[in-house]
Order: sequence, then structure tokens, then C-alpha cells
Amino acid sequence: MADDSFDVIVIGGGPGGYVAAIRAAQLGKSTAVVEKDKAGGRCLNYACIPAKTMLHTAEVLEEARSSAEIGVKASGVELDWDALGKRRTEVSAGLENGVAGLFKKNKIEFIEGEGSLADDGNVKVGETVYEAGKVIIATGSVAQSIPGVEFSDRVLDTWGAWSLPEQPDSVAVVGAGASGAELASAYIRFGTEVKLIEMLDQILPTEDRDLVRVVERTFKKQGIEVSTGTPVENVEAGPDSVKFSYGDNAAEVDYLMIAGGRVPDVEALGLDAAGVELDDDGRIGIDEYQRTSNQNVYAIGDVVRGPALAHKAMEEGIVAAEHAAGEQTHPVNIDLVPGATFCQPQVASVGLTEAQAKQDGRDIKSAKFKLGGVGAGSVYNDRDGMVKLVVDKQYGEILGAHIVGNRACDMIAELVATMALEGGNQELARIMHPHPTISEAILDAARAVDGWATHA
Ligand SMILES: Cc1cc2nc3c(=O)[nH]c(=O)nc-3n(C[C@H](O)[C@H](O)[C@H](O)COP(=O)(O)OP(=O)(O)OC[C@H]3O[C@@H](n4cnc5c(N)ncnc54)[C@H](O)[C@@H]3O)c2cc1C
Repeated sequence: MADDSFDVIVIGGGPGGYVAAIRAAQLGKSTAVVEKDKAGGRCLNYACIPAKTMLHTAEVLEEARSSAEIGVKASGVELDWDALGKRRTEVSAGLENGVAGLFKKNKIEFIEGEGSLADDGNVKVGETVYEAGKVIIATGSVAQSIPGVEFSDRVLDTWGAWSLPEQPDSVAVVGAGASGAELASAYIRFGTEVKLIEMLDQILPTEDRDLVRVVERTFKKQGIEVSTGTPVENVEAGPDSVKFSYGDNAAEVDYLMIAGGRVPDVEALGLDAAGVELDDDGRIGIDEYQRTSNQNVYAIGDVVRGPALAHKAMEEGIVAAEHAAGEQTHPVNIDLVPGATFCQPQVASVGLTEAQAKQDGRDIKSAKFKLGGVGAGSVYNDRDGMVKLVVDKQYGEILGAHIVGNRACDMIAELVATMALEGGNQELARIMHPHPTISEAILDAARAVDGWATHA
């Protein structure tokens, strides 16, 4: 006999789960969220938000140090590690409270504890069984180390790396995807010695090569030692340092930070008994409405296919909640999930790289436009980046958009919208962009595709 019953029970209160719960409640469904840790999930408490809070301080620190160039003399600029740690904690705590407030406002029951599926598809938390009309699994992912290496006091996962009690003198970041690039970019600006080591042949391996060249050049100028094509091996963690080798090199650093990958957090869920099947890669299998092989159970976010990103989790939460509530909804278009890396310079992209488009056999044209070409690039000292568009040759449909620059992660939203609305470069080329803004580089990139960029 169930102790309590809800139309929708969401397991996991991260960005996927809390958004799904709010949407289900908005649609009039009695809703509960089961969370074993904190409202807001890992994104808000241990990943996206703390990382971005630290990166913001790195940005301000660097601006303060170089402000004399723009006519602001500042003396005694230094990093206050304790104050930074305090702010990081406060920002997350404030947002966690905000999510808890949204639960209250929407009359969503917050159930603390570890949730799992009972054989009949209801939800167990400890000894209590909650009857569920529909269940949405949003339990996210956990850090994975590199083969043969255990996390420890000196070998850190990304949360360990972002929450060190003292600033280290030297670190090596293993894995130069978004998380690794962000760690390296923050620590070098904090004044720590940084090695960034990637076993594949380029940093930011999923990004377009032309953009990566800009980032790599800047990283090296900033003092990051970048190594590619070099797997990290022979890791020996001591009490005060870590020794390891990479390629033909050996090194010793205060901390090894592993930003290698993540695996779905599904072990405790009792999926088998409830008839929820996994994909070949260990993530929960879903259809286009986020439904699993058990038609009453949905799954969203890092536990399912596609890039592990918070905005993707949130959108999937909307789709799952609307479908679970019996509403018409639109499946998530995985091809339109933007990537966003908040290193300096930022990198953001959506759709195909030029290489991917060619590999797919698409007949394309592409254009690059440098941010230095528009006035705002000089005003805001954001001249080194670029916008690159990959476009279908015949119809002008934008297949991929790529931006590197200090505001790239905000700017990409316009390209996602254009692509979602099936606009091409010719429509984009006639849309006014406010002056002087860096976004004018998007306008000129759209024109450059057809050879008529104004400022080239
Ligand atoms: C360092 C770092 C930085 C990142 N930065 C960004 C970024 O800038 N932008 C971006 O879009 N993405 C970023 N990501 C990725 C992003 O954090 C994830 O994609 C996002 O958190 C996934 O959301 P989710 O809702 O699937 O799960 P999560 O945020 O992982 O939340 C899942 C929640 O479920 C809970 N849970 C798990 N199992 C159970 C259970 N059995 N019972 C009850 N509760 C349970 C967990 O405690 C957790 O609170 C970053 C990731 C890392 C590691």
C-alpha cells in the first residue's frame, strides 16, 4: 500500500529535474521531487555555477591587473582565495534556496532521500513507497577517472579542483574538453602554474579547428603549457604532490585535476526490476518524448544520450513533463544543443563543424569574420576572436555556427534561434544588429558567406 501518491514524481533535483517538476506542477499535476543531496543538483552546487563563479573572479582579476592600459590605475590588486571560496559557496547556496522557493511556490513536495523504482514503477525512498502516476528520472552523472587512476587527496575530480581550500602553486589538468579548458583558464589567471594535457590531437576536441587555433594561441600566451596527443600515465600520488608522465615528459605537480568524463548515476535506481533498459553505452534508453522502455517512466539530462549540458537537461525536462501530463509537446532537437565553454576566450557553437559537414558529404560554403572587424571589438578589447558559419551551398541553411571571443556563450543564442527557425545566412545578413556590439560580427559573417561582408 502506498503511503502517499503523486501524479508525477521526479527523482533528482538538478536542472533537468527541477525544471520538469515546475512544468508538471504548472500543468496542474501533483508533483514531488526526490533528492538525496541539494535542490539545484550538481549543476548548481558542484559544477556549472561554482565553476562560473570562479571563472568570473579570474576575469575580474585579469582586468584589474591590466586596467592601466585603459586608463584605470589600480594598485595592490591581489587574489583573496578565502573570499573567493566564500562567494562561491554563497552563490550556490543562494541559488539552491531559489530552487527550494520555486518548489514551494509551485506546491511541489520536496522529499529528501535516495529514490529508486519499485517493481511496479512506484518510487521508494527509504522504507516509504510513494505511488507515482509517472516518474521522471533526472539523476545526472558522476565523475569518472582515467583508466587505472583513483581519485584521492591529490588526484581530483572537477568539484575537488574547483573547491581547493588553498591556491595551489602548480596543477596539471587532464582532459581539454570544456571542463578542462575552464579549469586551466581560471587557474592560470589566478597565478598557478598550469599544464593542460589532452590525449586527442586538439584541445576542445569537439570544436571547429579554426576556433581551437585561436584558443590554443591565447592559452599559450597566458602561460598554459598545452600538450595534445599525450595520454597521462604512471600516476603516483604522494602526500604533497603527484608524479606522472605524458608523452616523453615526466612531471610533478601539487594536484592532478581529472576532467576526463562522466558516467550516468543510475546504479541505485533499480532500473532492471522496473523494466527500464539501458543503451549500449550505459545510459537510459529513451524515445523522442524522453519515455523509457517502461512507458510510465521518463528520463532526462545526463542519464540519457546527447551532450551532458544543463540547458539540454532543462529542455528535456519540459518535454518529459508535458508528455507525462498528456499535453502536446515538441521533442528536443539534439542537433541544436549549443556547446558553451567559459574559458578565456569563450567558445560556443551549435550544429556541424566544417569538417563534420564535409564528412557528411554536404555541399557547403563557409565564412569566417574576425571580431576585430567591428567597432565594438576595439572598444571592448575583444579583437582576437571570430564568428564562423558553415552553410548549405544551395539553400543557405545554416548547418553550423561557431564563435570564439569574450562573449561567445551569450552570442551563440542568436544562431541557435536562427537555426531553430530555419533561417539561412541570407535572412541573417539582413537583420539589424545594435551598434556598437560584438554581435555585428555575426551579421558580417552572414554576409561574408556570400562575399559581401561590409567590414572585411
Ligand atoms: C565542472 C562542471 C562544469 C559544468 N559546467 C556547465 C556549464 O557551464 N553549462 C552547462 O550547460 N553544463 C555544464 N556542466 C554539465 C552540467 O552540470 C550537467 O549537464 C547537468 O548538471 C545535468 O543536469 P541533471 O539534471 O541531469 O543532473 P545533476 O545536475 O547531476 O543533478 C542530479 C541530481 O540527482 C540527485 N540524485 C542522483 N541519484 C539520486 C537518487 N537515486 N535519489 C535522489 N536523488 C538522486 C543528485 O544528488 C543530483 O542532485 C558542467 C559539468 C561539470 C562537471
